[in-house]
Amino acid sequence: MTDRYAVIGNPIAHSKSPEIQAAFARQTGQDMSYERLQAPLAGFAATAMRFAREGGRGANVTVPFKLEAFALAQARSARAERAGASNTLAWRGTHWFGDNTDGVGLVRDLTVNVGAALAGRDLLVLGAGGAARGILGPLLAAGPRSLVIGNRTAARAEELARLFAAEGPIAARTFGDLGGRRFDLVIDATSANLTTAGDGDAAALLPWPETIFAPGALAYDLKYAALPTAFLQWARRHGADRAVDGLGMLIEQAAESFLLWRGVRPDTAPAFALFR
Ligand code: NAP
Repeated sequence: MTDRYAVIGNPIAHSKSPEIQAAFARQTGQDMSYERLQAPLAGFAATAMRFAREGGRGANVTVPFKLEAFALAQARSARAERAGASNTLAWRGTHWFGDNTDGVGLVRDLTVNVGAALAGRDLLVLGAGGAARGILGPLLAAGPRSLVIGNRTAARAEELARLFAAEGPIAARTFGDLGGRRFDLVIDATSANLTTAGDGDAAALLPWPETIFAPGALAYDLKYAALPTAFLQWARRHGADRAVDGLGMLIEQAAESFLLWRGVRPDTAPAFALFR
């Protein structure tokens, strides 16, 4: 019988996950289906449990349900525990197991696909929401010289810096306090919704100092779009050497979820060819 999987979010129509997972299933010869499920904003747990009753074997979880997925999971991986959020659920017969593959997907994209060095480098993560929480552990595990979290709301950045203090050299700053420091890698993990290609006005609204990029710096936007995001356009104008969007992270986190569910790691290169 074909095993059922899904991505659960709200909204969900835009998600590329079904096409990515279908490509992985074809490549590895796995008998599985993968669908989009839009859960009502107040109905994530009910949707996930109904899916399990109907035979669902696993799910990816996206905005805005990653914290609820974490809460629903009765068993969790260590990396989900550290992130406090789950983007991947696997049905274990009686309950959901919660994992988080976002951080490992990002680090794999950065180090394997983009060829960025993280060890000994100065990193800046902009944003302190769910996505930032998921990536801090794997970024610190890569051995940077420093990792600064810059956030609009200071208290949220400070909370994350406290939470991850034992794992590496991490500090919190507000955007205004970032002046005077330069970073080798700047990751935009905010949800600041400035989707514009070619819209210089929107990029001009970005709240970060223009001096944050060290020579040779890489700018990475967790968001992805057909054309460069406002952050990536801004980064190129203000000294970033390279600017990369989050499609690779999406593909790599999907491959990690697939590995958890099916026990086989798909080759991600064909997915890049399909979606770029
Ligand atoms: P979230 O939990 O809602 O956090 C949002 C963050 O953005 C907060 O730090 C918030 O700051 C900041 N922010 C929002 N609007 C802002 C603005 N106008 N100016 C400055 N900062 C602003 O969201 P999330 O779950 O972390 O997701 C963040 C982004 O990552 C989303 O676009 C998501 O699609 C993307 N993402 C991509 C992947 C991938 O595979 N490529 C995976 C995960 C997430 P305050 O704390 O001050 O409110």
